[in-house]
Amino acid sequence: MTNRFSFDLKATDGKARTGVIHTPRGDIRTPAFMPVGTAATVKAMMPESVRSTGADILLGNTYHLMLRPTAERIDRLGGLHKFMNWDRPILTDSGGFQVMSLAGLRKLTEQGVTFKSHIDGSKHELSPERSMEIQRLLGSDIVMCFDECPALPADRDRIVESMRLSMRWAERSRAAFGERPGHALFGIMQGGLERDLREESAKALTDIGFEGYAIGGLAVGEGQEAMFECLDYAPDFLPQDKPRYLMGVGKPDDIVGAVARGVDMMDCVLPSRSGRTGQVFTRRGVVNIKNARHMDDPRPLDENCSCPACQNYSRAYLNHVFRSNEMISGMLLTWHNLQYFQDIMAGMRDAIAAGTFEAWQAEFHAGRAQGDIDPV
Ligand SMILES: [Zn+2]
Repeated sequence: MTNRFSFDLKATDGKARTGVIHTPRGDIRTPAFMPVGTAATVKAMMPESVRSTGADILLGNTYHLMLRPTAERIDRLGGLHKFMNWDRPILTDSGGFQVMSLAGLRKLTEQGVTFKSHIDGSKHELSPERSMEIQRLLGSDIVMCFDECPALPADRDRIVESMRLSMRWAERSRAAFGERPGHALFGIMQGGLERDLREESAKALTDIGFEGYAIGGLAVGEGQEAMFECLDYAPDFLPQDKPRYLMGVGKPDDIVGAVARGVDMMDCVLPSRSGRTGQVFTRRGVVNIKNARHMDDPRPLDENCSCPACQNYSRAYLNHVFRSNEMISGMLLTWHNLQYFQDIMAGMRDAIAAGTFEAWQAEFHAGRAQGDIDPV
């Protein structure tokens, strides 16, 4: 254990990296996938179950928590870790992205953004200073700068303006964060799909200096090909010795492609959200458990998976509880999806350390290309 925040880069294979982020609340093995615990819970999962899949860190959402139950209440109750019974690291987003995607009626100024809650229409304000205060009240281990990002496609003028505003907000975030040993503040690179703007943004952030750097403004509608094109150069603008976090990504092949391009951390609601809609990720691609073909199938979802859904239940059962709207359906399928995502991360970490990441990727893609097992 350490009382400081630090990053040890242990090995590289091509551009892919593996290492460990040390924090006072425990180590985070990278590349890391962070399950999303939006409202102080990873939906349908107990914290100890999330941990058992191999998750070292969770993500919490500032926007949701500030509205309900409020950061002040969570602080009075001992902080987010205690409140949600997760004693390992937590990363919180800044609230900026979700204000843009969820809140009604908002007004953006140099100072920050005012908006109406999607829950009850009440009026709120977020600024770099307020976002830092909320994330401090929550007790977040990795705090994100308050930023703004346009949905893609957007014209260049809009991207330039937004990126430069985010860089001014990054400076204000750094000042408001202050000195907090053991806690980290990450800057967020913006600049859309424009190489020169990504470089300008990275330079502005590294001049300020952060404990880690996020690549923001991707996975916002541009598609995988455009995202990978940007990731072919964007991570290279960031310091080698600091963790790099790609926000809001993604599907299994997005994650693998991002790691191959030098990304260390990712988060996405996909495994948990899909679990509740019957969409399952496996080594052989996506399975829709609601399909009639599973109704008489006594076999497990994925015979190579260690999760309870695969160890103890048949496809027939999973199909039945999904169709019957039983709660155990969301619980088992979420568990499976999170287990699969963490298995991918563990596989990549081992392969990068062993210098066999290219072979690992070939096997990953070959398995998916095979498609699901034949119906019974
Ligand atoms: Zn499973």
